[in-house]
Amino acid sequence: MSNELLENAKLTIKDILKKLDLPKDFQDYILKPENIIEFEIKLDKTRKYKAFRIQHNSLLGPYKGGIRFHPQVSKGEIQALSMLMTIKNSAVDLPYGGAKGGISLDPKELTENELEQVSKKYVRFLVPFIGPKHDIPAPDVNTNAKIISWMVDEYVKIKSKKEKVKRKKNIIPGSDSSDVDLTKYDRESNVNQILNPASQRGEQVKDDNQKLNYLRAAFTGKNVSEGGAQGKESATGKGGVIVLKAILSKLKSQAKNNKSQINSKSKILNQKYFGAWNLDFDALSVAIQGFGNVGYFFADEATRNNLKIISVSDSKGGIIKLNPKYEVRNPKRTKNSNLFRISNLEFRVSDLLSLDIPLIMDCKKKKGSLAGCYCVGGVCDLSGGRQISNEELLAMPVDILVPSALENVINRHNMVKIKAKIIVEMANGPVTDEAYEYLTKKGVIIIPDVLANSGGVIGSYLEWLQGINGKKMSDLEYANKLKQILEKATDKIFNRSRKEKISLKQAVYEVALLRLYEAWKKNHKL
Ligand code: NAD
Repeated sequence: MSNELLENAKLTIKDILKKLDLPKDFQDYILKPENIIEFEIKLDKTRKYKAFRIQHNSLLGPYKGGIRFHPQVSKGEIQALSMLMTIKNSAVDLPYGGAKGGISLDPKELTENELEQVSKKYVRFLVPFIGPKHDIPAPDVNTNAKIISWMVDEYVKIKSKKEKVKRKKNIIPGSDSSDVDLTKYDRESNVNQILNPASQRGEQVKDDNQKLNYLRAAFTGKNVSEGGAQGKESATGKGGVIVLKAILSKLKSQAKNNKSQINSKSKILNQKYFGAWNLDFDALSVAIQGFGNVGYFFADEATRNNLKIISVSDSKGGIIKLNPKYEVRNPKRTKNSNLFRISNLEFRVSDLLSLDIPLIMDCKKKKGSLAGCYCVGGVCDLSGGRQISNEELLAMPVDILVPSALENVINRHNMVKIKAKIIVEMANGPVTDEAYEYLTKKGVIIIPDVLANSGGVIGSYLEWLQGINGKKMSDLEYANKLKQILEKATDKIFNRSRKEKISLKQAVYEVALLRLYEAWKKNHKL
């Protein structure tokens, strides 16, 4: 599977390079990772874990990508994901290359203390290979701000010790701001006092704080108290709505101003949908699969933007809420695509009410899943609610379907049942290549993962900027910058897709690879 992922990623890139007619030398260069760091972490006599950090490409800037803990982590998987990070960072115009890391373990089998040990050992090995201007890891599957904090602690501790030795040997510190003695660093205590027990001078304190923040910028996705950014947690989900909104407004103005120019034969701009759509943001219905970090913040932001979220789900299933005016109809088994059936009942989207997202999140936190979050007196007010399966959710005739959980959920087995007009790929790879092609030909607009969920890495970039510049952004500034970068990237990708009459996915890859090619040419003085 992991090698399949790598082969598929390579094939996609090869196809696009061929179409763009880029030189073979560039193809060989871009498909090959720059560094594969592979090692083993020994927890005790019996438990050893395979660990990786693969630095795929640094043409555009420092390596950037998450660290995942999962039993299925393998070299092939990490290599494929590191290559996709190079594509993603290039596509949205970030000054980053691509990397990915992972440990092949099931975190549920370890105690918290053991997990901390493994995380610290991972960083101990990687210290020479990472850094604020060299390679900047972040959380990924099964890792979070807590794990990143352990890693940051270990990184700061080791870097500080090294600097102390350098100073003793009277080595003149280099330009790297990691030249700071932080051996007494303890994140539980007041950093200023520990760093400067003797000096009460404000300037010195400020300086040392900046240096500490700089070191911490070797990681993103940190706790806010340790240099993390307030907006980072929600950046992926929020970012998805920003991209969706930008694309809808472009489709709308295109449909309005350019109706006559829309090629009725074009599969991508299928006139049928343009005619049928009410592109007003307020009126669009949405179903979201996955109610974790990405799905929840997407739902929350979408609600704030007056989208109508009519169904959400988690691994145990989904929920809908019936309008009290709904009257039971007997399923007529007609082919009306606006109707859908759940159990023995037949619905229209208009029979459903918008879900109260904050209330549902509260309920999920209390209950552990969405399953009972619709009608249990007092816990939430979702009377009229019903439970649906994930497959039923995917087949609902909504305007917008948002797979935010797993890869490959829309595939050859269910692609014919999909009735949504837009799919926003918030998870990584939720639509298989085969389903992507089938649905795109049918006229469904699919906003590809590389763009749709890039708010996460853009949020990381903004957090990193704060650390290396020693200047905190206000929440508003952070949110505005996230929006600016996403809208600019969406604009470029959308315009290419329209100009070249290609899907958004093809356009994302073309934009990314052309940017990398320009940088490569400059490097080779071509
Ligand atoms: P998460 O663990 O917080 O949430 C995952 C959600 O999916 C949970 O609600 C879980 O119950 C649900 N789920 C699991 N199995 C399911 C199934 N079989 N059917 C339906 N729902 C199921 O994860 P997340 O951080 O929200 O990430 C979700 C996806 O987004 C992943 O593909 C991840 O790689 C991708 N992604 C996440 C980020 C980020 O910043 N978190 C960034 C980019 C991409």
